[in-house]
Amino acid sequence: MTRPIHALVHSAALQHNLAHIKSLCPSSYIMAVVKANAYGHGIERVYEGLRGADGFGVLEVSEAQRLRALGWRGPILLLEGVFDARELEECSRLKLWHTVHCQAQIEWLTRHKTHEPHRVFLKMNSGMNRLGFTPESFKSAYTRLSACTQVQEVSVMTHFSDADRLNGVQTQLAAFHAHASDLAAEVSLCNSAAALLQPSSLGLSQDWVRLGIALYGGSVNPQERPAASWGLSPTLTLKSEIIALQQVRAGQSVGYGSTYTASQDTRIGIVACGYADGYPRSAGSGTPVLVEGRRTQTVGRVSMDMLAVDLEALGHPAQGGEPLGVGSEVTLWGESSTGARLDIDEVAQHAGTLAYELMCGLSTRVPISLVQASEPPH
Ligand SMILES: *Cc1c(COP(=O)(O)O)cnc(C)c1O
Repeated sequence: MTRPIHALVHSAALQHNLAHIKSLCPSSYIMAVVKANAYGHGIERVYEGLRGADGFGVLEVSEAQRLRALGWRGPILLLEGVFDARELEECSRLKLWHTVHCQAQIEWLTRHKTHEPHRVFLKMNSGMNRLGFTPESFKSAYTRLSACTQVQEVSVMTHFSDADRLNGVQTQLAAFHAHASDLAAEVSLCNSAAALLQPSSLGLSQDWVRLGIALYGGSVNPQERPAASWGLSPTLTLKSEIIALQQVRAGQSVGYGSTYTASQDTRIGIVACGYADGYPRSAGSGTPVLVEGRRTQTVGRVSMDMLAVDLEALGHPAQGGEPLGVGSEVTLWGESSTGARLDIDEVAQHAGTLAYELMCGLSTRVPISLVQASEPPH
């Protein structure tokens, strides 16, 4: 038998999340962000579930190539634009929209030979201080781009650093409005957190909303609200099985560094999943996990290929039920065969990180399969 760890991508959940967010931003175009190989899910695997979006956002030209190879003819935006002048040729060939965040990208464009002019998204640095033109230099960049024969249309965008906090966008939004609101351009402001969390009175969900984590079923404020309360479903499940059992006595410990010591005689299950699979080593004892859909917790340190779970806490199986043991299904996050769910956000919080990092960190040694939607999208 092969090692039992595997991951599942749920196409129906992607469809559901997309439809749900569309209903929340009815007047916006939805750009499904599929950078980092669709947040670890795989672009080819999410395509069926997300093709109802109005466009896709990617980081690399190779991701855009894959979308075109899947048959996507609609908009694709390079979220950071081109990394060198040569990539503009691919933009022309594949009809890609691209972000312009710096002077060099404008220079490259003015020297680019193309039959069909490009659509670009001019980015303002409204306070995140990573990419973009300062508010003061924004208009002159806009004017220069608009006059460029290589450019057909200029849209404007910015990115919020604190959209997961209430009123976390006010300062940046004010800078944006002061220097861009009078331009006759389509506007793109929101990531998932801004689209879902900021008051609609701010009018943020303008033309294009750029959605990543919410489409993948992650909460935009996991400390306060679980994904389910946002109406979002998990799109990625990480599963394995118990491959060995240990009966430890009170006072005995489990795993490297003996960080966990049993306070009573305890039945422990050893699970084929470790940090080399992408399960976070920083998740200490007490991280939730589902065994046959029932919630228990990890004990001791996560090692490279294994981790340990407390089976004692699950007590004795119901009469007639299979006892928990070798071969029992373990859901590290996502949805178990019983339908029980464990939020990836919960595991991330125990590891001091975010669902984003866990999704992107799934290791290549974990086989991933696609669970097709049973119903066609409406
Ligand atoms: C990654 C990214 C997004 C999506 O962010 P989420 O928080 O996952 O919704 C939106 N805009 C830009 C520019 C990005 O790089």
